[in-house]
Amino acid sequence: MARDTGPKCRICRREGMKLFLKGERCLTEKCAIERRSYPPGEHGRGRIKQSEYLLQLREKQKARRYYGLLEKQFRTYYTKAAKGSGVTGEELLRMLETRLDNVVYRLGFAASRAQARQLVRHGHFHVNGRRVNIPSYQVKPDDIVSMSPGSSAEQVIRDATDLTASVAPWLQADHDGLTGKILKLPARQEIDTPVQESLIVELYSK
Ligand code: SF4
Repeated sequence: MARDTGPKCRICRREGMKLFLKGERCLTEKCAIERRSYPPGEHGRGRIKQSEYLLQLREKQKARRYYGLLEKQFRTYYTKAAKGSGVTGEELLRMLETRLDNVVYRLGFAASRAQARQLVRHGHFHVNGRRVNIPSYQVKPDDIVSMSPGSSAEQVIRDATDLTASVAPWLQADHDGLTGKILKLPARQEIDTPVQESLIVELYSK
């Protein structure tokens, strides 16, 4: 599956905030935002004229890159969210949060979403006892996510749990047994993604 392979720290610098795309490095003083918090490129430190469109575009790009998706994939989530009966922006975030790769990361079983995606794709996780290697798989309440028995990535997964201070309130994690449970679908206030989803909806509904 296609994915964004460009430099991760440039993305954070472009959005002007830490998006935690590189795992452990993001928690150290080597983080590029700590050292160069201005946008990348020749005109990074110049003045940028802000417009309504630019604000909406940046917010969408931030959300898309936070979850590591390409434009087409992100747009598909938006289309599905807009067809639902709930609040479009909230529904969009809920769908992104309940992707299996995001859940593995939120449970603390990977140091970054990129690592979570690779672990899932390589078959290191089960959902309800069955191997699932689709990062976009949507989990549901009461689903159990666990490390595949005998996985060769056990040490990588255990190392990631050491970096995790807390787990999202809609999830329950057992870091000794390397299993997790989806307690419920996340409410908006339980999703700490630093985006204003209303701006994304405004952008796409033009
Ligand atoms: Fe972003 Fe992490 Fe790079 Fe810091 S180290 S700029 S948080 S990807």
